[in-house]
Amino acid sequence: MPQPTSQLAIACHQTYPLFDGHNDLPHALRKGFNLKLEAVDLTQNQKGNVFEGILHKTLHTDLPRLRAGGAGAQFWSVYVPTFVKGADAVQRTLEQVDVVHRLCEKYPDTLEFAWNAADVKRIFAAGKIASLCGAEGGHQINDSLGVLRMLHRIGVRYMTLTHNGGPDWAAAAVAESGSFEEESPAAPCIGLTRFGCEVVREMNRVGMLVDLSHVHADCMRRAIEVSVAPVIFSHSCTRALCSHPRNVPDDVLVSLKSNGGVCMVTYVTKFVAGERWTKGPKQAAALSDVADHIDHIKAIVGIDYVGLGGDFDGATSLSIGLEDVSTVPALTEELLKRRYSEDEVGKVLGLNIIRVMEKCEKVASELQSKTLPSENTRTDLDGPDDNLGVRAANQRRGSKRPRSLDDGNPSALSVHVYS
Ligand SMILES: [Zn+2]
Repeated sequence: MPQPTSQLAIACHQTYPLFDGHNDLPHALRKGFNLKLEAVDLTQNQKGNVFEGILHKTLHTDLPRLRAGGAGAQFWSVYVPTFVKGADAVQRTLEQVDVVHRLCEKYPDTLEFAWNAADVKRIFAAGKIASLCGAEGGHQINDSLGVLRMLHRIGVRYMTLTHNGGPDWAAAAVAESGSFEEESPAAPCIGLTRFGCEVVREMNRVGMLVDLSHVHADCMRRAIEVSVAPVIFSHSCTRALCSHPRNVPDDVLVSLKSNGGVCMVTYVTKFVAGERWTKGPKQAAALSDVADHIDHIKAIVGIDYVGLGGDFDGATSLSIGLEDVSTVPALTEELLKRRYSEDEVGKVLGLNIIRVMEKCEKVASELQSKTLPSENTRTDLDGPDDNLGVRAANQRRGSKRPRSLDDGNPSALSVHVYS
């Protein structure tokens, strides 16, 4: 259970919704329980119970610990590994969205599906946890803007343009180096193809947030140029404090000011602690290191552009003090100790991402009043060839199929399957 926290920290969670950007419970439910909700009782604290199918062995998430952690709203990741391709990736995405809806139906006293920012505020005010879906990879639309639009209709409210590898129209962070743990020259590529830009525009039009965690830095920059709505980083830290391709460079963080977006800081050890973790004797990251990343974003772009995206149930190693969903009030307490005002804490916990959603919805409404859905295909815009280098860059690593079909296999590759 979490360390005792101050009354002020607890009061912050009662006043402001903790709106986390990324939780992989739906994927853990697939790996551990074949998506059968009858196989695990989430009304019970599952801490310490070992489930062999899950890469990290024990669940980070259940209803009692969400309550203890002051959760107010959650983007549940509807993740599909990049080695699952084409129509199979679309089917698996539908099944992951389905399990989020089923969670809300099974536990209606705690979870309620949210379709927009107004729902988030209403559900939090009613004492429940607003539940939304985020798709973690552009491969999940199988190059189809029709699939993108239908995912929005069933409740997907953000899409990460790539995972570790990705579609042929957006470059992934892994393309910046041969692997996350080894130095190697960056692969030359353009960040986002013409079709990739069209995907961003169509996401703006339907009202789906563009998520730039996991993408190549050039893809971040190009997407922010193209998007007329605020973008998000659903679970990333800062490169200034941890030089890792999964993290956000300072120039991109600064560009959030004009874009209006938000970087939701993650608790994943290797993105928080960086070289301390990946080189030499492994040293853990701690909650105070996570707070340092929040401090950095606040310092270089402002308090309005930072949020939280823990990546619970999506990583094998999380920062000490932030090991499961019950622990977040300790981070709130750390921010208060660092002299963040209650208003500032509220912005970090959830008000910033709610503002971003509201703006995204407003932009979509305006665009829908004057434009029809795009009917372009990838071949229409990019042609049949990989003349922009995106596919080649992505295939350097992330799109490869793991040695085992089971992405829970703890091989070197599967280290990157999650997170
Ligand atoms: Zn991830």
